[in-house]
Amino acid sequence: MNYYSLNKKAPNTTFADAVVRSLAPDKGLYFPESIIPLESSFFETIESKSNTEIAFEAIKQFILPEIPEEELKQIIEETLSFDFPVVEINENISTLELFHGPTMAFKDVGARFMARCLGYFNTSNTNDVTVLVATSGDTGGAVANGFLKVKGVNVVILYPSGKVSDIQEKQLTTLGKNITALEVNGVFDDCQDMVKRAFLDEELTSKMQLTSANSINVARWLPQLFYYMFAYKQLKSKYKDIAFSVPSGNFGNVCAGMVAQKLGLPVKHFIASNNANDTVVNYMNTQSYTPKASVQTISNAMDVGNPSNFIRIQELHHNDFERLKSNLSSYSYTDDETKEALLELYNEYSYVADPHGAVGYLGAKDYLKNNKAHVVFLETAHPTKFLDIVEDTIRENIDLPPQIEAVMDKKKKAISISDYEELKNFLLS
Ligand SMILES: *Cc1c(COP(=O)(O)O)cnc(C)c1O
Repeated sequence: MNYYSLNKKAPNTTFADAVVRSLAPDKGLYFPESIIPLESSFFETIESKSNTEIAFEAIKQFILPEIPEEELKQIIEETLSFDFPVVEINENISTLELFHGPTMAFKDVGARFMARCLGYFNTSNTNDVTVLVATSGDTGGAVANGFLKVKGVNVVILYPSGKVSDIQEKQLTTLGKNITALEVNGVFDDCQDMVKRAFLDEELTSKMQLTSANSINVARWLPQLFYYMFAYKQLKSKYKDIAFSVPSGNFGNVCAGMVAQKLGLPVKHFIASNNANDTVVNYMNTQSYTPKASVQTISNAMDVGNPSNFIRIQELHHNDFERLKSNLSSYSYTDDETKEALLELYNEYSYVADPHGAVGYLGAKDYLKNNKAHVVFLETAHPTKFLDIVEDTIRENIDLPPQIEAVMDKKKKAISISDYEELKNFLLS
């Protein structure tokens, strides 16, 4: 499959090249040339297929033949070595738990898949690739873990000092080896701006192959479409109309769900649930897209003021606002509302959610006020990753899972930087 740039001023290119570059030379995001629906029999018999079979059938058109069948199957098998259970909250709402991977974040799937693709392309190319990534919280740990010890790939992670949780910080600063953490004196948008600037810096890019592991990268973005298929597989016999409420920051996850829908997955509607960072909510209300500086919230992995993937969502809907509006609703919630939702889930349903999942739950409830469907909210992180907030809110102690326990005693290693020049000096040194 070839990919085109959404800025339409760069040549179309292969999957391999799109993965290595992340952004097209004209700074546009890559988008697949076509999305061909799967046979309806695929969805009719989905319950009888394994997750790895579903994933292979769903993604192969985007990747073959550049990664051959057998190798792609292997990559999928390694990527999906954990569960994706749906838990029913009540008769109208379920949650799809995406936190059973090694760093307990849904980003594990995209990061592991992308790392293995880059590793595959790198066996025939001895030049080192540097993965440069900005994180508002969860990307860092998932990327660090997914890329650890991948041959020929160095990873440099920028995170905003004091704005990620302790556990998140540990996950991205304690691995060492080919992973370096840079602690930025600023907010997530500062980190993201520095990364963007590095990609545009010809002095830098002439000396090193830089790529990104944010959801702008097609190999991080596309495998997220699996989740929606796994949820459908589990719920299909019970509910006819299924909608998804997706806690959204950069909008990569919800956008991948829309690709699954293009592939033929029956999805009634998408709900992008947001914290106070409401750029898309405003767009859906006014048709005017006005990026803003991000504001800090308790669901910090969604503190994004200018979501990169929204342009892909528009492309998927042929840049037709009415069409988009009939498929997507978007709501925004305050931190207080999020805490109330955490408490409600705990008191009424004995379910311990994390703040991101709680925002998804609120979106599901709002959608159900005027619509009929079974709404699945995506639980994108394990509650212990936001331990203080969750414990303070539900007034219970929760046990640390072994994946988290393992990093808590390790020593943080990070390099502090304040501006772009310091990043550049580091990369060139
Ligand atoms: C990254 C992240 C999100 C937002 O996902 P996007 O694809 O950026 O919209 C939501 N929840 C958690 C826990 C995350 O780490």
